[in-house]
This record gives sequence, structure tokens and C-alpha cells, in this order.
Amino acid sequence: MLIDAFARNITYLRISVTDRCNERCAYCLPINGVTWLDEKDLMTANEIVRLAEAAISLGITKIRLTGGEPLVRPDILEIISKISIIPGLKDLSLTTNGMLLKKMAKSLAIAGLQRVNISLDTLDSEKYKKITRFGNFQQTWQGILEAENAGLFPIKINTVVVGGFNDDEIIPIAKLSINHPWHIRFIELMPVANQEDWGPGLPTVEERYFSSQKMHKILSSLNLEELDSSANSGPECTYRIPGGTGTVGFISPLGDHFCMKCNRLRLTADGCLKSCLLVDKEISIREALRSGADLTSFLKNAVANKPIGHELVTHNCSDKRCMSQIGG
Ligand code: SAM
Repeated sequence: MLIDAFARNITYLRISVTDRCNERCAYCLPINGVTWLDEKDLMTANEIVRLAEAAISLGITKIRLTGGEPLVRPDILEIISKISIIPGLKDLSLTTNGMLLKKMAKSLAIAGLQRVNISLDTLDSEKYKKITRFGNFQQTWQGILEAENAGLFPIKINTVVVGGFNDDEIIPIAKLSINHPWHIRFIELMPVANQEDWGPGLPTVEERYFSSQKMHKILSSLNLEELDSSANSGPECTYRIPGGTGTVGFISPLGDHFCMKCNRLRLTADGCLKSCLLVDKEISIREALRSGADLTSFLKNAVANKPIGHELVTHNCSDKRCMSQIGG
């Protein structure tokens, strides 16, 4: 088992398989000056699988593939099929913007993927284009339906709430959970390398942060019923609209400091272990992966040094990495 210095049991590894993305969400990737990692610095499929094996041997039971956009990686099916058969793994999922899901959902399920989280910040095609810059709402919507058809269940929808952009859509997005068995999750915007001007028609830095307390206030007319979140073993607080088939959750890194529930480790696209999304400290394991060295000591070290919590309430995150390299 991987127990950290604050008695948290670390069972969940998020692997960013690429920093490249077919969208440029304003809060995630700067529109100008994105420098992709050199191809040679990205982990190969075999290196990712080797790290997954080492992590599972130490007690990781849940792995999520993320990015960048994991579905733009040409060997994503190979990565999934190799990780999905590692004994001891209980849950293999992937976070995607959904743009390629329509064409890939079935193959992903066949390769061994169990479920997907899909990012969807708005139900309005023009706003979707504005926030994602290169995205297409209809394509993502079709992707969500195809993922459901393919049995990638439960479907989770990630909505980053941005003040002055989509705070007026919190109710309609939550209401998707009435007729669809989807888990809608409202995520507070995190100040990670996205402090610049986002361009015309998008909110200013001062307007953007929208706390989960304010989201709850807006949703009070729906009389949300609180569900037992202990089974999530993660930072989400979960509710249901009475009579709804799905759920509505909140992930509140700032509004409700959630670090004591954190059970995660992260691997960046260039092979660095991070024990906290919002703290710069990381351990590079790329050389160890390439030389065939034992990886378990690196994983144990990352867990032993997991900080008690992030300090975003008092300090902004540095601009060292944007979210697409870390994987969210
Ligand atoms: N390309 C995929 C996608 O769009 O879902 C996966 C990568 S993305 C970095 C993973 C998650 O991080 C998404 O749900 C995204 O909305 C979230 N995310 C990115 N930047 C964020 C930020 N600044 N604050 C909160 N969530 C963020």
C-alpha cells in the first residue's frame, strides 16, 4: 500500500499521455506560444505501461489516462489494451474533450477502457467554439452519445465553471442529469498558467473564479439531495436532483479545501511524477524508465513527499506547466 505522511492511502494514478490537444481551452492552453514537448521527451507506450505495472504492484487500483487530448495519441489503443490487463487494476478510465469519441468509442471499449469523463463547459455551439477555440459542440455531443452506446459507463461530464462565461448555464447543465444517467461535475477554475487575457468576448481575470458555494446557491431551486460521497474516495461532493437518473457533483479545490481527501499521484507527459496537481515539485523518472531501473522507489518517494495540501488560497500556481502537460 502507498500511505503518505498524513495517512492518506494513495490508490489513484493519473497519466498524461501527451501534452498535444485538438482544442485550446482558454483556461488550459494559451492560444499563443504553445510549445509542444519534443516527441523524444514524451513517454513511449511501453514506458507508460511499465510505470503502470510498478504503480499497480504497490497498491494503485485506479488509473486515468489524460492529456492534452489522449485520443490524439496514435498508440492510445495499444496503451489501453496493455494497461487494462495488468492484474490488480480495478478501474481504467480516460478524460477527453470528446471530439474524437464518435469515431473511437467502440474501439476504446474493445481495447479495455471502462469509462470516460468528457469535458463540456456549455450547451451553446458558439460559446463552445469560443472557450475551446478549435472545438465543435455537435461533434462532442455526438461523441458523448456514442460513448454511452459503447458501454463506457458511467459517463461523467466535467464542466469548469467560469464567471461571466457559463455561470448562467449551471441549471441547464445540471438538469442533463434528470433524463441521462450521467454524472455532471462542476469544477472550480484553478489558477494554473492561465492568468493572461483570454481575448475578446471572454471574461477578465477578475471575473473568472466562481466558487462552488455560488454554484450551490444558483442550484438551490432544484433542491439537490446530498448523496454519500465516501464511496468516491476522492474530492467530489455528490448530489442528485430529486427523481433524476444521474448525479450532480462539485469539485472545489479553492472553495472547499479538499486536500485531505486526495488519493492521487500524477505522471506528466514527459515522465515526471507529481504528488500534487497544484504544487510545482516533481520527480523526473524518464531516465529511470529508459534505463530499465526499478521504479518503485520513485513512486514511494513521491508518496512520502506528498504535501499536506496546496497553497493556492495564499499563492498562485507558477506558470511552469500548463494543465495540458499535467493532465488536470
Ligand atoms: N483534453 C482532455 C479534456 O479536455 O478533458 C483532457 C485533458 S484536460 C487538461 C483534463 C481536465 O482538466 C478537463 O476536465 C479540464 O476541463 C480540466 N481543466 C483544465 N484546466 C483547468 C483549470 N484551469 N481549472 C480547472 N480545471 C481545468
